[in-house]
Amino acid sequence: MKNLAADFGLHSSKILIESEFCDATILIKDGIISDIISGKIASPDFLIEEAGDLIVMPGIIDSHVHINEPGRTEWEGFETITKAAIAGGITTLVDMPLNASPVTTSAEAFQQKLDAAMGKLYCNCGFWGGIVPDNIDKLEELIDAGVLGIKAFLTHSGIDDFPNVTISDLKKGMPILAKHNIPLLAHAEIDEVHPGIAVFEKNPTNYKAYLGSRPKTWEDKAVRLMIDLCREFNSPVHIVHLSSGDSIEQIKAARAEGLPLTVETCPQYLYFCAEEIPNCNTLFKCAPPIRERENNEKLWKALKDGTIDFIVTDHSPASPELKKIESCNLKEAWGGIASIQFSLPVVWTAAKKRGFSINEIAELMSKNIAKFIGFKNSKGQIKKGFDADLTVWDPEQKFIAAKESIHYRHKISPYVGEELFGVIRQTYVNGKKVFENGNFISLPQGKILLRKH
Ligand SMILES: [Zn+2]
Repeated sequence: MKNLAADFGLHSSKILIESEFCDATILIKDGIISDIISGKIASPDFLIEEAGDLIVMPGIIDSHVHINEPGRTEWEGFETITKAAIAGGITTLVDMPLNASPVTTSAEAFQQKLDAAMGKLYCNCGFWGGIVPDNIDKLEELIDAGVLGIKAFLTHSGIDDFPNVTISDLKKGMPILAKHNIPLLAHAEIDEVHPGIAVFEKNPTNYKAYLGSRPKTWEDKAVRLMIDLCREFNSPVHIVHLSSGDSIEQIKAARAEGLPLTVETCPQYLYFCAEEIPNCNTLFKCAPPIRERENNEKLWKALKDGTIDFIVTDHSPASPELKKIESCNLKEAWGGIASIQFSLPVVWTAAKKRGFSINEIAELMSKNIAKFIGFKNSKGQIKKGFDADLTVWDPEQKFIAAKESIHYRHKISPYVGEELFGVIRQTYVNGKKVFENGNFISLPQGKILLRKH
């Protein structure tokens, strides 16, 4: 046997390697997968961790989270969210540019983000920058500073210091993104006046009235616009949190044309359906809204056939006060769902009913996202030379999502009380075991991920 050098090894009979489960030992050295050996090995030089028949798969990546630090840490912060992430088997996050203060729309603001994150990352973290009407001449600076892509809103963002862009702003910004070959992430809703808005005004605690106020046509029109811009500038476009099943055909056609278009959806659109959402409960409020069962099944089909590339949480936390839990006023409540810690069990619980395999889940929640964020050669797969970011879990074990187990700042979530499959047993970040059976076991191991030029 060749001479093996490693800090330690990790054995399981179910390690996901190139879409197959293998009985193997992963060797880890300096945070990197240094080798993968078939079967269980023994070494006098280093320890072998035994994971038995638990699933070992590439660490989950969540490229859509709102961390709110600096400036709105009473909503969420780096420490709380990255702790919750590793408890949920997530090893890499990417932060959205709009819920902190300042918003990430300049290189200086981005530097403040990086400073705020220092020493507080339990998992890896990258950052999206933002495009707003008055920062287009500073976009290049922001890109050069290392953001992974640029986010835009086509409707009001909910945060006044992150105003939405117009078509003319996008036409100025997209050539810059095309030049750097980085994605424009679009919140794709274009609001228009329609009778459903007045109905919701009069019934602000009624979920169906809320749903009726943000119709699928808002999304479909915005997706159409983004496809047209993607074609015009041949610039990568990414649709965040797709909720309208009616947009899938136009996305499919754009893909068939060869346009650089990617699409994500979120656990809430896949797990819940409007028919079952109670009135007077603001925890389910997000935008675009959670739609009817029939619509949501179209999203599942699109995940199966690859039209939707991946699933990320859009974890968008707020305090119970901002969420208007007491008054249950959906109109005034912050739009956003707090869920990060439960994303793998939620998606798995719903996906297994629909015949998805664990390998498909690993692609939808890790591999495809690694590619999207520009880290396809170091993350998202268990492969020699890749970062040792690993999720070890038991897909058969059930648990009830409990408030007491939540590690993000405000212990609220529409998933509390749900019975879910899939218990996270261990999480490894950069080759260090950071979470095991409910306990956090080492200092922050996360790194800041900057775009590689
Ligand atoms: Zn979001």
